[in-house]
Amino acid sequence: MKESNEIIYINIYHPDEKKIAEEPLEEMVKSLVAWSMPLTFHIEALKCQSIIMRTILAKKLKTFGEEGIEVSPEAEISLEEFNGYLSLEAYKQIWGNKYDDYKAILDEAIDDTKGIVIFFNNKPIDARFHMVCGGATENSENVDGNIVQYLRKVLCCYCQDAPYIHSYKDISIEEIEKKLGIQFVKENATKTMEIENVFYDIHRDEEGRITKLKAAGKEFQGKELMKLLQLNSTRFSWKPKKIRFFTTGKGDGVGLCQYGANQMAREGKKASEILNYYYTGIVLRIMKKNNIEKPLKGKTIIIDAAHGGEKGEDHIGPTGLREKDINLDICWYLKKKIASLGATVYMTRENDDYLPITERAAIANKILPDFFITIHQNYFKHPTISGTEIYYYRGDKEANKLGREIIEEITKELQTVNRGVKTAEFFLLRDVKVSALHIEIVYISNPKEEALLRKEDFKEKAAVAIAKGIVKYHGCATGDYHYL
Ligand SMILES: [Zn+2]
Ligand SMILES: [Zn+2]
Repeated sequence: MKESNEIIYINIYHPDEKKIAEEPLEEMVKSLVAWSMPLTFHIEALKCQSIIMRTILAKKLKTFGEEGIEVSPEAEISLEEFNGYLSLEAYKQIWGNKYDDYKAILDEAIDDTKGIVIFFNNKPIDARFHMVCGGATENSENVDGNIVQYLRKVLCCYCQDAPYIHSYKDISIEEIEKKLGIQFVKENATKTMEIENVFYDIHRDEEGRITKLKAAGKEFQGKELMKLLQLNSTRFSWKPKKIRFFTTGKGDGVGLCQYGANQMAREGKKASEILNYYYTGIVLRIMKKNNIEKPLKGKTIIIDAAHGGEKGEDHIGPTGLREKDINLDICWYLKKKIASLGATVYMTRENDDYLPITERAAIANKILPDFFITIHQNYFKHPTISGTEIYYYRGDKEANKLGREIIEEITKELQTVNRGVKTAEFFLLRDVKVSALHIEIVYISNPKEEALLRKEDFKEKAAVAIAKGIVKYHGCATGDYHYL
């Protein structure tokens, strides 16, 4: 195996220069660890951070169905996402004579975890982290509104002695008003701003003079307060000039607590144990270049160009286009695409031959692929009906999942109407013993869609969209990794 072939590159967008640069993923991880965690932390905590930053980058790879960044879709990630990011070159200046020591630490943390990525359901996780949780991490839905299975609340007694565990910040009333776009009570001697546990149970007479109030549990007469505080009148009010905000922890509390991770490492825990503590139900895997380029390696898929021959009873478009021919064209494009992604692909027919559905089912049941996909074009008597539909056999949850990924890609890529993923009792769906999908790409009965089906790039795009959906569904097949 040639070492150089194993390097994974990632396309990075540099917003300052507005250009894309291809950089080795592992080198990028080094500068991101330096950016995101003090290098004085324990080596096992730094290994955790290396795996986290690698996972954040891996998640953006187009292999996992990401589209690239908005301003420049060629790029998979923008440095804009890492506010204050510096290259290792820039750290030479900052670290001075400590550079060699710090670089050695980074090399150890990254090289020892080379290629390791956190997976959940075959996909890199959203590896969230924060500095100090302050006693417990948060359930994702409390922060972002979405339930993420691996971002569950865990108790954390490890960050009790961390900086930021208890801190405060004084903010002036003017600043609060400005930042929140609000206005508190205007200065006025008779308008009262009640402050819980400070001044409350306030009584005034008709003239607005304070007759009595409570302060921290003790009752005072207005006149008494005037004297004690040397105020000019009993007609008084108050307003704080600034407010002290007390905080526990630092960050949003979702995912890994960095100071907690550091303490766990000091107590002898390994990086894999720490990651498994903060992320629920994850798997650590080594991601290799081959996994990215051939994500479907090891998968077997049968594609079925529906109908065929003269007995095939296919639909015919308003200008005479035959469904059987279109189905076959799309299947050829699809075969080429998913084979290039590593899958083993079989076609039930490769020519314009009549093949009874019982025979198609027999082929599937002999090979027993991971999926059986049959391609059709739809038909309806009203020519205005258009769009994409996918069918699966009821109860087949995996087919439903795959169908939803595929329809999302097709309707996005081909700009067609999403008519949904539905159950059906079609013979093939029922008699094929593996998960099966019946895809109706568009309506050949609709003159506009029939015209599109005559275009090679439209058929190819349809195939590419299906392939994308399959990759999104499967994620990336990689071996489990057991950390020693
Ligand atoms: Zn913590
Ligand atoms: Zn058909």
